[in-house]
Amino acid sequence: MTGQTRRIDRVITPMETTDGAGVRLRRSIATPTLDYLDPFLLLDHFGSDDPDEYIAGFPMHPHRGIETVTYMLDGVVRHRDTMGHAGEVGAGDIQWMSAGGGLQHEEMPQIRKGRLEGFQLWVNLPASLKMSKPQYQEVASGKIPEVEHDNARIRIVAGQVGGAMGAISDIAANPTYLDVTVPAKEKFEYPVPAGHAAFAYVFRGAVIVDGQRIEAPRLVVFQDGDSVALRADETGTRFLLVSGNPLNEPVARYGPFVMNTRGEIEQAISDLRRGCFEWRG
Ligand code: MN
Repeated sequence: MTGQTRRIDRVITPMETTDGAGVRLRRSIATPTLDYLDPFLLLDHFGSDDPDEYIAGFPMHPHRGIETVTYMLDGVVRHRDTMGHAGEVGAGDIQWMSAGGGLQHEEMPQIRKGRLEGFQLWVNLPASLKMSKPQYQEVASGKIPEVEHDNARIRIVAGQVGGAMGAISDIAANPTYLDVTVPAKEKFEYPVPAGHAAFAYVFRGAVIVDGQRIEAPRLVVFQDGDSVALRADETGTRFLLVSGNPLNEPVARYGPFVMNTRGEIEQAISDLRRGCFEWRG
């Protein structure tokens, strides 16, 4: 497949919805249109200048069997969990959490300057790691490598650009997660391993891909190939470029639990009811 530029598989308009205790967001994976893009289970984009649209946050709730990746553009989310972790994820920061065998946490937006914007991506865990010990990787904005590539500016959350390694590593799906800014009319090309699922979430401006002009906010899902190529239109663009190795395993999902079988989901619900949900080794 050498030299095969990925074509567009589909372009998805995010669905406006609310989640948590009433946070308005745009969801583009985990919807009736796109339930699962193996290994990616969910993609949310939250962003508002109005605290009423986010302040209710995500009070204490459980997760099992997945990794959640929170990447903030603006504002602050305070978190704490039943493993004893607590902290704040601020503008430009990243939090990569592997829920493994189970934890509960809260994710509460704070009102600082008013604006809150960011993304949450859920990455599936392989069956062999679904009941593993929960893990955290938190990286402050200043520690996220930033490189020039062609004429684009890339913040490398995960993956590799040239010789530069991303801030986050040792993730099961071997993902790439880039925040890419391309100036007006400039081209951008990036190698993505053949066989990996890949998408671009365009959140500023517009891009031209595969002959199509695509305006933010849109999710562009790519077909297979070994590189992604696009061009910014007259306004320039900014997008997330994410790819990962599909697991090709059965998926049983119920809200914040994503396992392989119905029985494992019932076990999670039962564990939660009986007060023995959290990972204990
Ligand atoms: Mn959560």
